[in-house]
Amino acid sequence: MVEVSKNTRYFGTNGIRGIPNRDLTMDFCLQMGKAIGTFHNTGIVAMARDTRISGNAVFSAVSSGILSTGMNIEDLGILPTPALQYYCKTFSVPGVMITASHNPPEFNGIKCIAKDGTELHWTDEERIEKIYEGGSFKSVDWRNIGTIRSVNTAVSLYVNGITEHVRADLIRKKKFRVLFDAGSGASFETTPKLLESLGCSMVTLNCFPDGTFSGRHSEPKEENLHDMQNIMKNGSFDLGIAHDGDADRVVFFDENGNFIDGDQSFSLIVKCTVKEGDVVVTPVSSSDSMDEICREKGASLIRTKVGAPIVSRTMIEKKAKIGGEENGGVIYGEHQFCRDGAMTAALFLNLLAQGDEKASDLIKELPKYRIFRISVPISRPWKDISKKFSETVEGRRIDRTDGLKIYEDDSWVLVRPSGTEPIVRIFGESSSLDSARSIAVRYREIIENLLK
Ligand code: MG
Repeated sequence: MVEVSKNTRYFGTNGIRGIPNRDLTMDFCLQMGKAIGTFHNTGIVAMARDTRISGNAVFSAVSSGILSTGMNIEDLGILPTPALQYYCKTFSVPGVMITASHNPPEFNGIKCIAKDGTELHWTDEERIEKIYEGGSFKSVDWRNIGTIRSVNTAVSLYVNGITEHVRADLIRKKKFRVLFDAGSGASFETTPKLLESLGCSMVTLNCFPDGTFSGRHSEPKEENLHDMQNIMKNGSFDLGIAHDGDADRVVFFDENGNFIDGDQSFSLIVKCTVKEGDVVVTPVSSSDSMDEICREKGASLIRTKVGAPIVSRTMIEKKAKIGGEENGGVIYGEHQFCRDGAMTAALFLNLLAQGDEKASDLIKELPKYRIFRISVPISRPWKDISKKFSETVEGRRIDRTDGLKIYEDDSWVLVRPSGTEPIVRIFGESSSLDSARSIAVRYREIIENLLK
């Protein structure tokens, strides 16, 4: 399992991740299921999975462990992570999602959801780990072993929940034409249903469950979305929409086929949604444009460490209206306190429905900052080189909220180890994509030299 920076041994920033039958063994999944069941102790656990080939096996192992502790399971089938979270919140039941989000198809993972639909707090993850390591699992008499009930209402519950937060009547009148790419992930049913209910006509790409992700990589980055871009450029669409594997994130293309970065769509939604006095929460990794927009709107901005669970918890604590990350994960508090790709897509359509401006017009009105991201694989733990790296940037203005955010004139670069993979992520922001790229590349070279 990948080493993580927080104190938990198995749960990273987004649950447990690994390659089934290699580091995520079925024995481990079974024992972890027993630990999760022992932790929750009584009642029901809702479970869902994404489209990965190993989904059935991991689901079966984890659920067997949970059932053996006397908990019952509601099996919601293949579903986006935020749809499971919405179900948990609605019925006040804990959940377990079997997913590795945007990771390559060989990965899978276990993510625990609290009764309020948020990611389980890390202190509870620690308790589950203690139970796992101590092996002190609850084991019930044969009569009390749990059972599995299939539930097929989660899709409509989720779609209806989203439409409540937008002006569906206005969106329907516009009859938007949308190109939608599910990347063969968990959104193949939910997002088309949502778009249909909002009166959109749509063409779909990779909109079927395929655990090998043969159509495209499940990370919705521009370089993985060439098919979509070509079709957008040669077709006549108002918006292109693409999710990651478990659809808690979304990216867009404008009507001309130009990629809209997650940071830009987040800025746009914040700009058109917040009012004076509102609170917005975002990590140090997102754009400075957020500061400008919040200042203009009279909203207050809170910066946190990187990681959606940290943003959600801060949002709950500070009663924030909206939060999110630069990677296309927007959290809309009125709906639920977790990243939700389909909710974000509905908010974008809601903006387009307010007037006659096209997506490209709206993007043009945003402050001009661009972020460029790269990552460096690291063969040894980050802590081995972080001291030397700190020395190379000594004397500069540095924000240490998470990793090192180093300011240079009108640019900044954020260098931080990933919580889920053995890589260091580098984010460069500047007034143009070229200068953002050049600062990010310069810091990649510094790190590569330190690794030699
Ligand atoms: Mg995801």
